[in-house]
Amino acid sequence: MTTGAVMDAGLGAAVEERLIGKVAGPAGGPTLLCVAGIHGNEPAGVHAVRRVLASLERRRGALEGSLVALAGNMTALEVGQRFVDRDLNRAWTRDRLEQLRGDGLAGASVEDVEQVELLEEIENVLRDARGPVYALDLHTTSGPGGIFSAFTDSLPHRAFAAKVPIPMIFGLEELVDGTLLNLLSENGVVALTVETGQHDEPEAIDRAEAALWIAIMSAGLLPERLVPEAAEARERLRRDAGHLPRALEMRYKRDVVDGDGFEMRPGYLNFQSVRAGDIVADDNRGEVTVSEHGRLLMPLYQEQGEDGFFLVREFPAFWMGVSHVMRRVGLSRVAFWLPGVVRVAGSKDEVVVNKRVARFFARQLFHLLGFRQLEDAGSSLRMRRRRFDESRYLSEPPAPTSLGTPLGSD
Ligand SMILES: [Zn+2]
Repeated sequence: MTTGAVMDAGLGAAVEERLIGKVAGPAGGPTLLCVAGIHGNEPAGVHAVRRVLASLERRRGALEGSLVALAGNMTALEVGQRFVDRDLNRAWTRDRLEQLRGDGLAGASVEDVEQVELLEEIENVLRDARGPVYALDLHTTSGPGGIFSAFTDSLPHRAFAAKVPIPMIFGLEELVDGTLLNLLSENGVVALTVETGQHDEPEAIDRAEAALWIAIMSAGLLPERLVPEAAEARERLRRDAGHLPRALEMRYKRDVVDGDGFEMRPGYLNFQSVRAGDIVADDNRGEVTVSEHGRLLMPLYQEQGEDGFFLVREFPAFWMGVSHVMRRVGLSRVAFWLPGVVRVAGSKDEVVVNKRVARFFARQLFHLLGFRQLEDAGSSLRMRRRRFDESRYLSEPPAPTSLGTPLGSD
């Protein structure tokens, strides 16, 4: 039995500089921003980007555009913990960023400093961009089998995600506020989060590397003929995740708050099927059961973290095609005229849906049409049409704006 938790820090990956590396081709082109280790106990991504940067360097002459890799939470990576004072991937909201900018950093928490520095580096990347910007945010999970992607469901984002042959999780943004992924997505960056397995398994590095090679090709940095790693990358991910459903929607999140005594029962895997009534955890009030059938995602097997587990449910990949067509022909406009739907005054994208009138179609239909849920107030839903549902903006860089005041905010 070892004592000192730091000795067990698994793959470990302290970084000296926030900019892990950058490889830029001779001419302009798209930018792929890769963020690794925004959670400090998830170092697999850092190792993966180092491997890819070294290998890509030798192909610099053929590269169109650039790959920029940033370390997320440097202090937490150093100590091998998810975070020091607070989760760095939960406060990327406009209000919080404005506050951080305004307050100065005297007396700030470790993550306040990390966030301001990371934000500056990201804004540098956006400012330097001369073409579209893509982002890949690399993570791992505390429980085994966590291999999937998550994204905001605009069509270009979905297309980027679809290139990586692992389960695609829809709707995470409705249950988890303030992620970096969300902020980037709302600012015209085609962003994708990829989870590549358990924190400390070496295979998590291989899968992160595979995802990164695929992202490099999908973003248009290199044609496939110059990426001999391509076939193996897809093969690797299919071998490890091909038995899992391709498309799943988020259904539920169990929040964990300090002192509620939440503890996952041992042995649950990512994507494990559960039925209503199954006891999956315990807390101070007793047994914790799941309320509907589905699959578990990200069961919490580490001390730090605000999410006990998620419940997801697969849906036929067929519906992805349906929703693609609905949006391409502009059906989202029709949504505003449906019974029980009221447009929010002063907004072109927000609606309130009366669930009693529209209960048969409300949430699912609006999802298909490209809306996200902002709030479920019991008898009504507040939904907002996602920005950037068209590929048009992919021909240009995001406006060089401060991320604290997102482009197109209204
Ligand atoms: Zn993470």
